[in-house]
Amino acid sequence: MNAITLRPGRERPVLHHHPWIFSGAIATVDGSPAQGDIVDVYATTGTWLARGTWSSVSQIKARLFTWNADEALDATLLRHRMERAIAGRAMLTEAWSITETAARSACRLIYAESDGLPGLIVDRYGTYLVVQLLTQGMAVRTDQIIALLHHLTGARGIYERSDTEAREQEGLPLAEGLRHGEIPPLITLHEPGLRQRSPWRPDLQFMVDIGGGQKTGFYLDQAENRARVAAYCVDRDVLDCFCYSGGFAVHAAQAGARRVTLIDSSTTALAQAQEHMTVNNITIPVEPIAGDVFKLLRQYRADGRLFEVIILDPPRFANKQTHVERALRGYKDINMLAMQLLVPGGVLATFSCSGRVPAELFQKVVFGAGVDARRDVQILERLTQAPDHPVLLSFPESEYLKGLICRVW
Ligand code: SAH
Repeated sequence: MNAITLRPGRERPVLHHHPWIFSGAIATVDGSPAQGDIVDVYATTGTWLARGTWSSVSQIKARLFTWNADEALDATLLRHRMERAIAGRAMLTEAWSITETAARSACRLIYAESDGLPGLIVDRYGTYLVVQLLTQGMAVRTDQIIALLHHLTGARGIYERSDTEAREQEGLPLAEGLRHGEIPPLITLHEPGLRQRSPWRPDLQFMVDIGGGQKTGFYLDQAENRARVAAYCVDRDVLDCFCYSGGFAVHAAQAGARRVTLIDSSTTALAQAQEHMTVNNITIPVEPIAGDVFKLLRQYRADGRLFEVIILDPPRFANKQTHVERALRGYKDINMLAMQLLVPGGVLATFSCSGRVPAELFQKVVFGAGVDARRDVQILERLTQAPDHPVLLSFPESEYLKGLICRVW
């Protein structure tokens, strides 16, 4: 049996159900665990603590699945965890329908550690699933996981998008492709928009390219936030920076924005955004601009161009701890520029999806941006990731998305 014994004093996080064992916490490894093998974790005193899967390359040597010595890390446990995650989303759908934001046809079904399944992400788009298997523990169980997911959901197609940096950090090859059934080239997704003014407004439609899109095809973590931000866009001149396929801009336009300008460096994303304007019958002026947000905002400042609402939803600037300083400079720069481009009383909706930049620090950066822009800034709303990406209290790393809706004077 493969076993890890921790260094003295390192058992506390494990006892508190933090699911990661870092190499620095390990005193000895007994046996010779291979990629993804099951390992038992012991305290220095010899007390059994937890059970997980081994990672041979990453600094995170083990991902923990159970703190119950009687529970085997087998198909039964995986199935129970999946069932629990799926039941949790069914409860959410019920809650959503009560708050009148029903009809989301896509959601994150399994959010890795938060759902007791380290390394496994599953997004559901209608009757299709997109999976990411991001650790050695999950990668060696790929066939088992796909079979269980099919059994539990009856999905018509399951597509793997394990083509992320996390795979490389685990020493795993990037993996992408159809794993079960079939997947249409584009899947139509429905997302509820702002309803306050017109309860009869139809849901918004987005077409998701599962194989070719970013992440698993769509940014589900911003679903609620898109509708919230749209509430501030009625009759306004809106700039959506880092727009991808136009999520925020389409919501804003449907809510009644006067005009929208979209910026993204990807021309493919901009073409999708325009397509999304068309399928949602948007008739207001829409200006898609391909380019670098940092440069274009400077250009607008030089030109004296102003907006009434600006949305900043940049990609993750800090992938590693060593990137945090640079990320903070980037956040401060775009936030300062955006504030300078807002009319007095204009609204800034600003986000950070870097888990390494906690909410308090992000707020400080936005404050610094206000100082540099010489503007007074009020926080109107604090936003976070959608509830189908739940934050596990014993695993604070599961919280990554934060946003502020600010009024800028
Ligand atoms: N707001 C979007 C998601 C944004 S993802 C939604 O709700 O769906 C981040 C986007 O930023 C990606 O589409 C990426 O192409 C774009 N991007 C990254 N760096 C950029 C830059 N420097 N300038 C402009 N766009 C950039």
